[in-house]
Amino acid sequence: MRGSDVAGTPSLASIVWDLFRARREGVAGLVRRQQLRSASLVTHARSASRFYQRHWRDCAPDASLRDLPPVTKQQLMAAFDDWLTDPRVTRAGVEAFIADPTRIGSKLCDEYFVCSTSGTTGEPGRFVHDPHAVAVYRALSMRLFGAWWSVAGAWALARKGGRLVAVVGTGGHFAGEGWTEWERRRDGVRSRAYTVLSVQRPLAEIVAALDDLDPAVLIVYPSMLALLAEEQAAGRLRLRLAFIELGGESMSPITRARAADVFGCAIYDIYSASEALLMAIDCPHGRLHVNSDWMILEPVDAVLHPTPPGELSHTVLLTNLANRVQPILRYDLGDSVVVPTDPCPCGSPLPSLRVAGRSGDVLYLVATDGRRVGIPPSALAITLATVSAARRAQIVQTTPASLRVRVEAEPGADVESTRAFAVAKVRAYLVEQGLRDVEVVGATEPPEQSAQSGKFRPIVPL
Ligand SMILES: [Zn+2]
Repeated sequence: MRGSDVAGTPSLASIVWDLFRARREGVAGLVRRQQLRSASLVTHARSASRFYQRHWRDCAPDASLRDLPPVTKQQLMAAFDDWLTDPRVTRAGVEAFIADPTRIGSKLCDEYFVCSTSGTTGEPGRFVHDPHAVAVYRALSMRLFGAWWSVAGAWALARKGGRLVAVVGTGGHFAGEGWTEWERRRDGVRSRAYTVLSVQRPLAEIVAALDDLDPAVLIVYPSMLALLAEEQAAGRLRLRLAFIELGGESMSPITRARAADVFGCAIYDIYSASEALLMAIDCPHGRLHVNSDWMILEPVDAVLHPTPPGELSHTVLLTNLANRVQPILRYDLGDSVVVPTDPCPCGSPLPSLRVAGRSGDVLYLVATDGRRVGIPPSALAITLATVSAARRAQIVQTTPASLRVRVEAEPGADVESTRAFAVAKVRAYLVEQGLRDVEVVGATEPPEQSAQSGKFRPIVPL
């Protein structure tokens, strides 16, 4: 039985129509859809995933979603072939697929979108999304246009033929590059209009390429946007954008207001993960609204009990109601979130939350000539992610001109050579940024969780 056949694949138009109706029906309509879809997904996982059959073996057959035990990435990755519901998709097949950079954004088994996360974010992950999930993500992106629609934005978008540039981490089937490439492969119009620029390239090169491409839409990490705003304010960059889409990190309200002022366009934030794209979209009041008809996010404490509104959760459990080939049910996502105690002034019936611990603080390093060079933490994290023998890696800034690289090697890989390779990668990246003299030390201590939050941060600025 193939995963996507179970769900069927309704048309994009019918999913968009349902999103519209769900919002119009308000909280009751959203809750009803969530209940129907979660019951259906639980039934599907019970019948088609050997992993969940084992994991839920002691649960009542009619147990509801919230009575089922949570799962971790480690558990799921260790049981990959039993977890997926299409026997054609195996761990070995997915590993071979992602080892080939020419296949970024192409279809696995002629139907599936694949993306990966690296050990820099904890356990490496491999995620497979079926055609129904892909259609839901595309439909949800239209909800974003609903919240942020303006005549000026639509006109700017049309005038530039929908030109879009994504400045994201490249070279490893990461979700940002993978999804942009996936959309480029849809048709000739998108393939001409969409461009991926590597966030690992030197800032001056990114600025020159952006000026040349003159996009209407910019997709970017907040830390990179903060650097680009400095370039635009100084007149070295002259972008006239319809809107800016953020993701991957959080941005302080002050930095965001400054960027909005400099670029003169709407900036919106998306809470997305490789496990589920477009989990939440922010509104003009700066709150992330969860797409609760397709995504369930449960804030929980350290012993996985629900966290009350107003309190910072230890982690959040994700259920992706759209994807059946690789069912994700009560999955420990690792982010700390807060659910506000008051309703959002925008009036949206979609529940809102704030995500903590997605630090997008720019890491500043000092060059020999005294220049201060800003580095987006995501670019360094992606550089580490290309060290495939590293299970986890971390960069800690110890002085304005020195970094320590901590590495935990994959089982069977040699720690010293993996560490030396990671150090060489980081050095090469810094040389490209004009930071030849920054000291990069290979540390013998392993990567560490934050003592305050207990969370793993791949990049720790001074
Ligand atoms: Zn709102």
